[in-house]
Amino acid sequence: MRPWRWLAGLFGGASARDVEIPQASWQRVCCEQPELASLSDDEFERLRSLAGRFLVGRPFYAGGAIELTDSMQLRIAALASLPVLELGMEWLEGIRSVIVYADAFEVDHEEVDEDGVVHHVRDLRAGEAWSHGTLVLSWADVEAGLDPDYATSVVIHEVAHFIDGVNGAENGFPPLDKGHDRARWTHDFQTAFDRLNREVDAGDEPVIDPYAATNPAEFFAVLSEYFFRLPESLWDFDPVLFGHLSRFYGQDPLARLARTPAGKIPQGV
Ligand SMILES: [Zn+2]
Repeated sequence: MRPWRWLAGLFGGASARDVEIPQASWQRVCCEQPELASLSDDEFERLRSLAGRFLVGRPFYAGGAIELTDSMQLRIAALASLPVLELGMEWLEGIRSVIVYADAFEVDHEEVDEDGVVHHVRDLRAGEAWSHGTLVLSWADVEAGLDPDYATSVVIHEVAHFIDGVNGAENGFPPLDKGHDRARWTHDFQTAFDRLNREVDAGDEPVIDPYAATNPAEFFAVLSEYFFRLPESLWDFDPVLFGHLSRFYGQDPLARLARTPAGKIPQGV
Protein backbone atom coordinates (compact mmCIF):
# COMPACT_ATOMS: atom_id res chain seq x y z
CA MET A 1 0.00 0.00 0.00
CA ARG A 2 1.11 3.51 -0.73
CA PRO A 3 1.12 5.75 2.35
CA TRP A 4 -0.77 9.01 2.10
CA ARG A 5 1.33 11.93 3.14
CA TRP A 6 0.22 14.56 5.57
CA LEU A 7 0.56 17.72 3.52
CA ALA A 8 2.92 19.33 5.99
CA GLY A 9 4.33 21.54 3.27
CA LEU A 10 0.97 23.20 2.86
CA PHE A 11 0.47 23.73 6.54
CA GLY A 12 4.05 24.61 7.40
CA GLY A 13 5.97 24.20 10.61
CA ALA A 14 6.43 20.46 10.22
CA SER A 15 9.42 18.98 11.97
CA ALA A 16 10.65 15.47 12.65
CA ARG A 17 8.84 15.53 15.98
CA ASP A 18 5.44 16.93 15.21
CA VAL A 19 3.16 18.68 12.75
CA GLU A 20 1.93 22.19 13.39
CA ILE A 21 -1.81 21.97 12.83
CA PRO A 22 -3.26 25.24 11.54
CA GLN A 23 -5.61 26.92 14.00
CA ALA A 24 -8.49 27.18 11.50
CA SER A 25 -8.37 23.47 10.62
CA TRP A 26 -8.15 22.51 14.28
CA GLN A 27 -11.02 24.81 15.23
CA ARG A 28 -13.22 23.24 12.55
CA VAL A 29 -12.49 19.66 13.65
CA CYS A 30 -13.08 20.43 17.33
CA CYS A 31 -16.31 22.35 16.75
CA GLU A 32 -17.80 19.63 14.56
CA GLN A 33 -16.83 16.68 16.74
CA PRO A 34 -19.11 16.19 19.77
CA GLU A 35 -16.34 14.71 21.98
CA LEU A 36 -14.13 17.74 21.37
CA ALA A 37 -16.60 20.63 21.31
CA SER A 38 -16.48 21.31 25.06
CA LEU A 39 -12.71 21.21 25.59
CA SER A 40 -11.30 24.12 27.61
CA ASP A 41 -8.90 26.49 25.85
CA ASP A 42 -5.97 24.77 27.55
CA GLU A 43 -7.17 21.27 26.58
CA PHE A 44 -7.87 22.50 23.05
CA GLU A 45 -4.25 23.62 22.64
CA ARG A 46 -2.68 20.58 24.34
CA LEU A 47 -4.76 18.20 22.23
CA ARG A 48 -3.68 20.09 19.09
CA SER A 49 -0.07 19.47 20.04
CA LEU A 50 -0.71 15.76 20.74
CA ALA A 51 -2.58 15.30 17.46
CA GLY A 52 0.38 16.88 15.67
CA ARG A 53 2.66 14.32 17.29
CA PHE A 54 0.28 11.50 16.37
CA LEU A 55 0.56 12.46 12.71
CA VAL A 56 4.34 12.08 12.70
CA GLY A 57 5.78 8.65 12.03
CA ARG A 58 2.40 6.93 11.67
CA PRO A 59 1.73 6.48 7.97
CA PHE A 60 -1.90 6.44 6.89
CA TYR A 61 -2.82 3.89 4.20
CA ALA A 62 -5.93 3.81 2.05
CA GLY A 63 -7.71 0.48 2.25
CA GLY A 64 -9.09 0.35 -1.28
CA ALA A 65 -10.48 3.25 -3.25
CA ILE A 66 -10.61 6.06 -0.75
CA GLU A 67 -8.85 9.38 -0.92
CA LEU A 68 -7.43 10.26 2.47
CA THR A 69 -7.53 14.02 2.86
CA ASP A 70 -5.66 16.03 5.47
CA SER A 71 -8.90 16.80 7.27
CA MET A 72 -9.73 13.08 7.54
CA GLN A 73 -6.31 12.30 8.98
CA LEU A 74 -6.63 15.26 11.33
CA ARG A 75 -10.03 14.11 12.64
CA ILE A 76 -8.67 10.63 13.30
CA ALA A 77 -5.54 12.02 15.00
CA ALA A 78 -7.65 14.32 17.18
CA LEU A 79 -9.96 11.53 18.34
CA ALA A 80 -7.07 9.10 18.87
CA SER A 81 -5.27 11.66 21.03
CA LEU A 82 -8.25 12.54 23.25
CA PRO A 83 -7.96 9.49 25.58
CA VAL A 84 -4.26 10.25 26.20
CA LEU A 85 -4.70 13.99 26.73
CA GLU A 86 -3.56 13.56 30.36
CA LEU A 87 -1.82 10.17 30.07
CA GLY A 88 0.63 11.24 27.36
CA MET A 89 1.40 10.21 23.79
CA GLU A 90 3.73 7.40 24.93
CA TRP A 91 0.58 5.38 25.65
CA LEU A 92 -0.03 5.26 21.91
CA GLU A 93 3.44 4.05 20.97
CA GLY A 94 1.84 0.70 20.08
CA ILE A 95 0.08 2.35 17.12
CA ARG A 96 2.54 2.47 14.21
CA SER A 97 0.26 2.90 11.22
CA VAL A 98 -3.36 3.57 10.31
CA ILE A 99 -5.42 1.93 7.56
CA VAL A 100 -8.66 3.62 6.57
CA TYR A 101 -11.38 1.90 4.54
CA ALA A 102 -14.27 3.80 3.00
CA ASP A 103 -16.81 1.66 4.82
CA ALA A 104 -17.09 -1.36 7.11
CA PHE A 105 -14.68 -4.08 5.99
CA GLU A 106 -14.81 -7.87 5.98
CA VAL A 107 -12.62 -9.80 8.37
CA ASP A 108 -12.01 -13.54 8.53
CA HIS A 109 -11.51 -14.89 12.01
CA GLU A 110 -12.07 -17.94 14.16
CA GLU A 111 -14.66 -18.32 16.89
CA VAL A 112 -14.80 -21.11 19.45
CA ASP A 113 -18.29 -22.17 20.49
CA GLU A 114 -19.38 -23.48 23.90
CA ASP A 115 -18.47 -27.04 22.85
CA GLY A 116 -14.93 -26.00 21.93
CA VAL A 117 -15.55 -26.30 18.19
CA VAL A 118 -13.64 -23.76 16.09
CA HIS A 119 -15.67 -21.97 13.42
CA HIS A 120 -14.23 -19.89 10.59
CA VAL A 121 -16.32 -16.75 10.41
CA ARG A 122 -16.38 -13.74 8.08
CA ASP A 123 -18.03 -10.59 9.34
CA LEU A 124 -18.06 -6.83 8.94
CA ARG A 125 -16.00 -4.57 11.19
CA ALA A 126 -16.00 -0.82 11.74
CA GLY A 127 -12.52 -0.94 13.22
CA GLU A 128 -9.75 -3.16 14.50
CA ALA A 129 -6.67 -2.81 16.70
CA TRP A 130 -4.03 -5.15 15.29
CA SER A 131 -1.58 -6.35 17.88
CA HIS A 132 1.44 -5.58 15.71
CA GLY A 133 0.50 -1.91 15.74
CA THR A 134 -2.04 -1.06 13.06
CA LEU A 135 -5.19 0.90 13.75
CA VAL A 136 -7.83 -0.02 11.14
CA LEU A 137 -10.90 2.17 10.66
CA SER A 138 -14.00 2.51 8.52
CA TRP A 139 -14.27 6.17 7.52
CA ALA A 140 -18.07 5.91 7.24
CA ASP A 141 -18.17 4.96 10.91
CA VAL A 142 -15.75 7.74 11.91
CA GLU A 143 -17.90 10.23 10.02
CA ALA A 144 -21.11 8.93 11.58
CA GLY A 145 -19.70 10.21 14.87
CA LEU A 146 -20.41 13.79 13.77
CA ASP A 147 -24.00 13.11 14.87
CA PRO A 148 -24.04 13.86 18.62
CA ASP A 149 -26.69 11.19 19.26
CA TYR A 150 -24.59 8.44 17.66
CA ALA A 151 -23.36 6.28 20.53
CA THR A 152 -20.31 4.80 18.85
CA SER A 153 -16.84 6.26 18.54
CA VAL A 154 -14.83 3.71 16.58
CA VAL A 155 -11.55 5.63 16.96
CA ILE A 156 -11.80 5.84 20.74
CA HIS A 157 -12.91 2.21 20.91
CA GLU A 158 -9.88 0.90 19.02
CA VAL A 159 -7.48 3.27 20.77
CA ALA A 160 -8.83 2.01 24.10
CA HIS A 161 -7.80 -1.50 23.03
CA PHE A 162 -4.24 -0.26 22.43
CA ILE A 163 -4.24 1.50 25.82
CA ASP A 164 -5.58 -1.65 27.48
CA GLY A 165 -2.74 -3.60 25.88
CA VAL A 166 0.07 -1.35 27.14
CA ASN A 167 0.77 -3.86 29.93
CA GLY A 168 0.91 -6.75 27.47
CA ALA A 169 -2.65 -8.09 27.40
CA GLU A 170 -5.94 -6.70 26.18
CA ASN A 171 -8.07 -7.85 29.07
CA GLY A 172 -9.90 -4.76 30.30
CA PHE A 173 -7.24 -4.11 32.91
CA PRO A 174 -4.86 -1.37 31.77
CA PRO A 175 -1.90 -0.27 33.91
CA LEU A 176 -3.20 1.85 36.77
CA ASP A 177 -1.33 4.55 38.64
CA LYS A 178 0.07 3.64 42.05
CA GLY A 179 -2.73 5.23 44.05
CA HIS A 180 -5.51 3.55 42.07
CA ASP A 181 -6.80 0.50 43.94
CA ARG A 182 -6.32 -2.47 41.57
CA ALA A 183 -8.48 -4.84 43.60
CA ARG A 184 -11.25 -2.27 43.67
CA TRP A 185 -11.03 -1.76 39.89
CA THR A 186 -11.21 -5.52 39.28
CA HIS A 187 -14.15 -5.98 41.65
CA ASP A 188 -16.16 -3.04 40.34
CA PHE A 189 -15.60 -3.85 36.65
CA GLN A 190 -16.32 -7.55 37.15
CA THR A 191 -19.52 -6.81 39.10
CA ALA A 192 -20.80 -4.45 36.39
CA PHE A 193 -19.72 -6.82 33.59
CA ASP A 194 -21.65 -9.68 35.23
CA ARG A 195 -24.69 -7.43 35.71
CA LEU A 196 -24.61 -6.39 32.05
CA ASN A 197 -24.39 -10.03 30.96
CA ARG A 198 -27.38 -10.90 33.14
CA GLU A 199 -29.36 -8.05 31.55
CA VAL A 200 -28.41 -9.18 28.04
CA ASP A 201 -29.19 -12.83 28.81
CA ALA A 202 -32.58 -11.81 30.20
CA GLY A 203 -33.40 -9.95 26.99
CA ASP A 204 -33.42 -6.55 28.71
CA GLU A 205 -32.25 -3.44 26.92
CA PRO A 206 -29.16 -2.17 28.72
CA VAL A 207 -28.23 1.52 28.96
CA ILE A 208 -25.03 0.84 27.02
CA ASP A 209 -24.27 -1.13 23.87
CA PRO A 210 -24.70 -4.85 24.67
CA TYR A 211 -21.54 -5.53 22.64
CA ALA A 212 -19.75 -4.53 25.85
CA ALA A 213 -20.89 -7.87 27.33
CA THR A 214 -18.70 -9.79 24.83
CA ASN A 215 -15.64 -9.97 27.08
CA PRO A 216 -13.74 -7.72 29.56
CA ALA A 217 -11.61 -6.15 26.79
CA GLU A 218 -14.68 -5.09 24.81
CA PHE A 219 -16.30 -3.93 28.06
CA PHE A 220 -13.39 -1.54 28.70
CA ALA A 221 -13.34 -0.33 25.07
CA VAL A 222 -17.11 0.31 24.90
CA LEU A 223 -17.13 1.99 28.31
CA SER A 224 -14.30 4.24 27.14
CA GLU A 225 -16.40 5.26 24.13
CA TYR A 226 -19.30 6.20 26.40
CA PHE A 227 -16.99 7.94 28.86
CA PHE A 228 -15.79 10.40 26.24
CA ARG A 229 -18.83 10.54 23.98
CA LEU A 230 -21.95 9.99 26.09
CA PRO A 231 -20.74 10.38 29.68
CA GLU A 232 -24.27 10.82 31.01
CA SER A 233 -25.20 7.35 29.73
CA LEU A 234 -22.14 5.83 31.38
CA TRP A 235 -23.03 7.59 34.62
CA ASP A 236 -26.54 6.15 34.36
CA PHE A 237 -25.11 2.69 33.74
CA ASP A 238 -22.64 2.80 36.61
CA PRO A 239 -21.34 5.96 38.32
CA VAL A 240 -18.62 3.95 40.10
CA LEU A 241 -17.12 2.89 36.76
CA PHE A 242 -17.41 6.47 35.55
CA GLY A 243 -15.29 7.40 38.57
CA HIS A 244 -12.69 4.73 37.80
CA LEU A 245 -12.38 5.85 34.18
CA SER A 246 -12.23 9.50 35.21
CA ARG A 247 -9.37 8.67 37.57
CA PHE A 248 -7.63 6.50 34.97
CA TYR A 249 -7.90 8.91 32.03
CA GLY A 250 -7.44 11.98 34.26
CA GLN A 251 -10.45 13.65 32.63
CA ASP A 252 -14.03 14.49 33.54
CA PRO A 253 -16.23 14.72 30.42
CA LEU A 254 -19.32 15.39 32.57
CA ALA A 255 -17.70 18.53 33.95
CA ARG A 256 -16.86 19.51 30.36
CA LEU A 257 -20.49 19.12 29.32
CA ALA A 258 -21.52 21.39 32.17
CA ARG A 259 -19.31 24.12 30.69
CA THR A 260 -21.05 24.07 27.33
CA PRO A 261 -24.22 26.13 26.90
CA ALA A 262 -26.18 23.08 25.71
CA GLY A 263 -24.62 20.78 28.28
CA LYS A 264 -26.29 19.41 31.36
CA ILE A 265 -25.40 17.11 34.21
CA PRO A 266 -27.73 14.33 35.37
CA GLN A 267 -29.44 14.77 38.73
CA GLY A 268 -27.24 14.11 41.72
CA VAL A 269 -23.85 14.62 40.04
ZN1 LIG B 1 -13.35 -3.95 20.31
